[in-house]
Amino acid sequence: MNALAATNRNFRQAARILGLDSKLEKSLLIPFREIKVECTIPKDDGTLVSYIGFRVQHDNSRGPMKGGIRYHPEVDPDEVNALAQLMTWKTAVADIPYGGAKGGIGCTPKELSISELERLTRVFTQKIHDLIGVNTDVPAPDMGTNAQTMAWILDEYSKFHGYSPAVVTGKPTDLGGSLGREAATGRGVVYATEALLAEHGKSIKGLTFAIQGFGNVGSWAARLFHEKGGKHKETTGKLADFDGADAMDSNDLLTHECDVLVPCALGGVLNRENAGDVRAKFIVEAANHPTDPDADEILSKKGVVILPDIYANAGGVTVSYFEWVQNIQGFMWDEDKVNKELKRYMTKAFHNIKGMCQLQDCNLRMGAFTLGVNRVARATLLRGWEA
Ligand code: GLU
Repeated sequence: MNALAATNRNFRQAARILGLDSKLEKSLLIPFREIKVECTIPKDDGTLVSYIGFRVQHDNSRGPMKGGIRYHPEVDPDEVNALAQLMTWKTAVADIPYGGAKGGIGCTPKELSISELERLTRVFTQKIHDLIGVNTDVPAPDMGTNAQTMAWILDEYSKFHGYSPAVVTGKPTDLGGSLGREAATGRGVVYATEALLAEHGKSIKGLTFAIQGFGNVGSWAARLFHEKGGKHKETTGKLADFDGADAMDSNDLLTHECDVLVPCALGGVLNRENAGDVRAKFIVEAANHPTDPDADEILSKKGVVILPDIYANAGGVTVSYFEWVQNIQGFMWDEDKVNKELKRYMTKAFHNIKGMCQLQDCNLRMGAFTLGVNRVARATLLRGWEA
């Protein structure tokens, strides 16, 4: 089942639990707007190459649409649609005043030079600049993009609209980026895990963690779990400077003996083939949709507790919200304030999800989905449809 089918299925189940009207259900599912653009750039050797860029704006009932831009060879319309929809529920679960969006370019960033990446980013921005904005749609980094990518988008956007730092988040701090944003997704994963473990009378100290992926999220999560006394194993080729972990093959790692498994890379890594062999007691979804619905069913029968993506990795977009607020106010927070507020948001969201689980007698994924979908449905109904 592809990412979009899996996401739609979770949404429909939540809509059923909430007893949503079928017309409202349909309107919440259909994206607000889907953008597909051709991006042609000259490579450094002068040859032309064309890429396809996407931005899916899923819903804006609760505020400007928000979500990352991914540079990855597997970027396709269904994947971007699924990720945009997940952002709508994620911002609602985190209770930040945003809707959901996602973008991407189907490319292999490692094979592009820095100047090719800059040209590609600027061409993509030229094609979408009229459709994004501080109060409409605010991009951020995702897989294959980073603070530098956001700086180029900001610069290109500003040529058309004047200097507007709040049009993107995850910027370099020299351009109004927030302190703590770089580590925020990984830090949020750790706060989320602490909230979950506390429910089970446990803490990070002394537990073993298996961390799949060593990009921005995986490396920060690993470092912060380690600081709090967790022991771990990770998949990566980049472990050279990291102390306190062993590297191993990705598939072996997913089924390795551990207390907490933390997938931090691509979607769909836990599926029918390997779910039965998972030995972790807890799974914390730092990646977006790492567990497909077959694996969800197999794992829940085994009694594995899954902390779902739309909550577990919401720390990134939450600190993006703090960055946007700081840009609009023209006032910088210190890092301590950012981290304290992040912890407050993550802890509150966990208790809100638990409240839904008790009310609806459902697991954490459905608790998070019903919480998010219900908030978006309420906003949509309050705004109404009168033309
Ligand atoms: N790309 C991140 C996510 O999937 C962050 C999005 C944002 O900060 O807007 O949640």
